[in-house]
Amino acid sequence: MQYSEIMIRYGELSTKGKNRMFFINRLKNNIKHVLSVFPEVKVSADRDRAHVYLNGCDYLPVAEALKDIFGIQAFSPSYRIEKDTEALKKAVQELMLSIYQEGQTFKITSKRSDHHFELDSRELNQVMGGAVFEVLPNSQVQMKQPDINLKIEIREEAAYLSYENIKGAGGLPVGTSGKGMLMLSGGIDSPVAGYQALKRGVAIEAVHFASPPYTSPGALKKAQDLARKLTKFGGDIQFIEVPFTEIQEEIKEKVPEAYLMTVTRRFMLRITDRIRQERSGRVIITGESLGQVASQTLESMQAINAVTTTPVIRPLVTMDKLEIIEMAQKIDTFNLSIQPFEDCCTIFAPDRPKTHPKIANVEQYEKRLDIEGLIEGALSGLKIRTVSPQAESDEVDEWLTSLL
Ligand code: ATP
Ligand code: MG
Repeated sequence: MQYSEIMIRYGELSTKGKNRMFFINRLKNNIKHVLSVFPEVKVSADRDRAHVYLNGCDYLPVAEALKDIFGIQAFSPSYRIEKDTEALKKAVQELMLSIYQEGQTFKITSKRSDHHFELDSRELNQVMGGAVFEVLPNSQVQMKQPDINLKIEIREEAAYLSYENIKGAGGLPVGTSGKGMLMLSGGIDSPVAGYQALKRGVAIEAVHFASPPYTSPGALKKAQDLARKLTKFGGDIQFIEVPFTEIQEEIKEKVPEAYLMTVTRRFMLRITDRIRQERSGRVIITGESLGQVASQTLESMQAINAVTTTPVIRPLVTMDKLEIIEMAQKIDTFNLSIQPFEDCCTIFAPDRPKTHPKIANVEQYEKRLDIEGLIEGALSGLKIRTVSPQAESDEVDEWLTSLL
């Protein structure tokens, strides 16, 4: 027997009251988008369930793709059967013979939404249970936690049989929480932070600071490839490259060594915030983790964060490095992240950055710089690309709009 459709159970969105249809529609569109590589497949969604109709398409690759879509709590592949008692009995027997293992218990759970069907759900349970005993006389029924829970659903158009329940990714449908700007370096942490934000429904755009020729085209490509790894969880990602060389050189020349890092980070945050404003993002997301490096002490975060009141989400802030690495491996970004390419921050990094920078000092040093002019310069040279799951389809277009 071949699966004909996949029934999808929603996750947390079931608690969202009035917004329910908004969540469901977004999830439906996200599923459609991910499954658009399978042209035969059709998707529908109602208040309680979504349905993926395979129309002859292979079940396994579709199931793999569904496992990465946030907002899905669980899904069950099912067989479409003619709405006829004899046909159903035959299908139930055939299915049980193919999955039953000696000593297992089972139960039948029937649901009838077509009330004209000749058997009601209680009768269906009895008749279909009887059909199982005809072919498996030694099998046992168990109501609580049976090994096999065979579900029968009688709907208007047909009857459906299913027995598997596969855990989905959980979370909220991407886009239902608005949009955030992910500060994406080439490291291990920021891609994981992006994944966590996607999981809670935040659509992301990636902002990457590049300082050529100090940073190589390889480093840029690596960051872009990391963004691509995230597309499987939320679709295409806008990748925004910020030219950062001039700013870094200027800071290096005018700011004392110990404060280079703090001032550099403040510029990154200011610029990201301007891009966010222009592109209607609500928050900024970073891969910072408390105490990991000098820029991530509470004092440093405070000094850096002082340039904006926009919420900065730091999903990894309380995670240990080993936990982060484990997640990076799970989402398949780790091997890319550990490729050796120099980052714009490591090249200009002082040997001993201040771990307890004083805001008063930072502000004093920044007076030596034309903050607004430098920011404008960087914003006028942004490059924006659409990063898609397939590398070939990347589009490059220069973003020349003034951000004034
Ligand atoms: P990561 O593994 O994400 O690089 P990290 O442990 O190396 O993090 P830092 O280099 O201090 O830590 O960076 C802290 C955060 O600042 C990063 O997680 C990222 O969000 C942001 N960031 C750092 N460098 C860049 C960059 N070149 N472009 C964009 N964002 C950056
Ligand atoms: Mg880094």
